[in-house]
Amino acid sequence: MPLKPEQQDEIARQRSETVPTRRATVPALEEILYQPVPVLDHGFVRVIDYMGDDAAVVQAARVSYGKGTKRVSEDRGLINYLMRHRHTTPFEMCEIKFHVKLPIFVARQWIRHRTANVNEYSARYSILDNEFYVPAPAQLAAQSRSNRQGRGDVLEGAEAQRVLDLLREDAERAYRDYAEMLNEDEAGAAIDPARKGLARELARINLPLNFYTQWYWKTDLLNLMHFLSLRADPHAQYEIRAYAEAMIGMLERWVPLTAEAFRQHRLGGAQLSAAALAVVQRMLAGENVTQETSGLGKREWTELMATLGRPGGAQ
Ligand SMILES: Cc1cc2nc3c(=O)[nH]c(=O)nc-3n(C[C@H](O)[C@H](O)[C@H](O)COP(=O)(O)OP(=O)(O)OC[C@H]3O[C@@H](n4cnc5c(N)ncnc54)[C@H](O)[C@@H]3O)c2cc1C
Repeated sequence: MPLKPEQQDEIARQRSETVPTRRATVPALEEILYQPVPVLDHGFVRVIDYMGDDAAVVQAARVSYGKGTKRVSEDRGLINYLMRHRHTTPFEMCEIKFHVKLPIFVARQWIRHRTANVNEYSARYSILDNEFYVPAPAQLAAQSRSNRQGRGDVLEGAEAQRVLDLLREDAERAYRDYAEMLNEDEAGAAIDPARKGLARELARINLPLNFYTQWYWKTDLLNLMHFLSLRADPHAQYEIRAYAEAMIGMLERWVPLTAEAFRQHRLGGAQLSAAALAVVQRMLAGENVTQETSGLGKREWTELMATLGRPGGAQ
């Protein structure tokens, strides 16, 4: 995550300023406010601003005149109750704003989450940095045989090296051509004073999906948890999962009671279909249920067994 010295200075300056306020602040989140947490090879995520805390969830649920919180154990119980019963609106009372630097292919997945406010860096207005994502060797995997949307064994040896070389060479060539079409170097100076140079909004179109973009992304606590539950899930692509995992760390600092309930009821919990629940009930009654007698399709059976920690469905 190479931040330029002037960017580091700006962050340091902002972090050195404090203001007195009557509003709720969270010391654990203040500690990392504005600070970038590195993700992937050149990316980061940092918290820019937030509104509310665990107490704001409780306050809204109790429609209180004051802070609304009671003892921590009571607040924890209430937040767990809200999460368990999908009483969601109190969680919408808290907001958070992130600055994210991410590869364009990750941004394409991320932008599908519509319940957020986004402002992206304009590559019509500014020149994109020469920064592109190259997976770490451990992430360079073959297509999964069992999951069409997943990865299988890690590539090794000459094959892995060739892939890394191609990714790097293609990105470097594309950026060289981008600069040539712009007729501008990274500092904005003309490469050839005799040429006009192509507009930035057109020159960018040959850049591959692994180039980095940036945005400000603001959402409320409810929709943040929805995003994290989908993107921190093992079914999500590794690269967006890396961002979601960094953001879960921020969630834990910001709203520790809500984060605990989120781990309990969303991340660590499971939802069963009526047919799957019936299978569990038959198993608890002592019946030796197999996929053939379960009434479930092969895929749902495998998923249920994985949820129950019985890979393969051994009884
Ligand atoms: C593992 C994985 C694989 C995926 N694969 C694909 C894929 O192959 N192709 C693809 O196109 N997408 C894919 N997606 C994206 C997925 O379909 C969703 O678009 C994305 O996860 C955003 O979810 P969301 O709509 O619930 O979130 P948000 O847009 O944040 O919406 C949150 C909730 O608000 C409500 N909502 C928001 N907007 C509307 C609306 N217009 N109408 C009705 N209700 C609304 C819904 O209840 C929604 O759940 C994948 C996602 C994951 C996690």
